[in-house]
Amino acid sequence: MGEFDLIRRYFTRPSPRAVLGVGDDCAILQTAPGMQLAISTDMLVAGRHFFPDVDPRALGHKALAVNLSDLAACGARPLAFTLALALPRADAAWLEPFSAGLWALADAHGCELIGGDTTRGPLNLCITVFGEVPGDAAEPTRTLALLRSGARAGDDVYVSGTLGEAALGLHHLLGKLHLDAPVAAACRARLERPTPRVALGLALRGVASACADVSDGLLGDLGHILERSAVGAQLDDAALLACCPWTDYGIDAQLLRDCVLSGGDDYELVFTAAPAHAEAVTAAAKASGTPVQRIGRIDALPGLRVVNSAGQPTAQTRIGFDHFSQDDNMHQSDAP
Ligand code: ADP
Ligand code: MG
Repeated sequence: MGEFDLIRRYFTRPSPRAVLGVGDDCAILQTAPGMQLAISTDMLVAGRHFFPDVDPRALGHKALAVNLSDLAACGARPLAFTLALALPRADAAWLEPFSAGLWALADAHGCELIGGDTTRGPLNLCITVFGEVPGDAAEPTRTLALLRSGARAGDDVYVSGTLGEAALGLHHLLGKLHLDAPVAAACRARLERPTPRVALGLALRGVASACADVSDGLLGDLGHILERSAVGAQLDDAALLACCPWTDYGIDAQLLRDCVLSGGDDYELVFTAAPAHAEAVTAAAKASGTPVQRIGRIDALPGLRVVNSAGQPTAQTRIGFDHFSQDDNMHQSDAP
């Protein structure tokens, strides 16, 4: 199977939203009047972000999911994506399930594959997604996208879904932790098939003051919001631990706390909202069918403090993951 056969067989479908899709030198997208394009790229490298022998269907899902998660964090509606692929060989037994996983998530979000690049090389996947957010007709340099920079002292801090499960799943797969079969299955599913919180991101437009997705660990990703907003935060240790469904399963307490606070690959949203918007946050959670938990408050004092019920700081945990700041072996997404 040649390069163009491969593209035609696995990566070409009608893309009615695009003016021009796969097959020409460029794809062409028309934005709706008053809307702006939100664009994000994420690369997944075998051995770094995923095990080379991972289920290809799950990998197809995840490659797109991590990109949709970035659109969710901006409150953008998915439109289209491009796929750059390096493959060691044209293996139908791999391409078939990989493309099926990719198409299933793309269809679920109405996000069309409009182009890409295909080459032989060590397995590597790079997706660029395009989404739309409303602009401000009166002021073309403004956007109604959710940004990291809008958090204000006094805002509440929230997180969607669960935290730490993907990191627990990774520790289990690496043999560093034993999980009982049902827990292992749940955590592994969260690691390999994350759910991008697109509907929540859309519902939070005009409600949240700042938002980011949790790809590198809660403390690190919330840290980006704090830095861009020039504020600090105080988080409630008990509320954080309550974000993990596996606190009563005999998992080492320190490891569990590390996974919740600093584990990567959750692809949840962490966001802030003024107390006056608390009811609107609840309504957004309900409308999008996404659980949301309040975990703390923004304050003017820079830095991040995790406190217990008595208001005492708890032990500091490692913050976020940075690919170039330390040696480490295997990472899923950008997580330890
Ligand atoms: P060029 O060499 O001009 O960059 P190619 O010959 O590489 O274009 O690709 C031919 C067409 O197939 C282009 O429209 C390109 O966007 C599309 N394409 C290539 N690889 C993929 C892929 N993995 N998924 C979707 N479309 C692809
Ligand atoms: Mg090319």
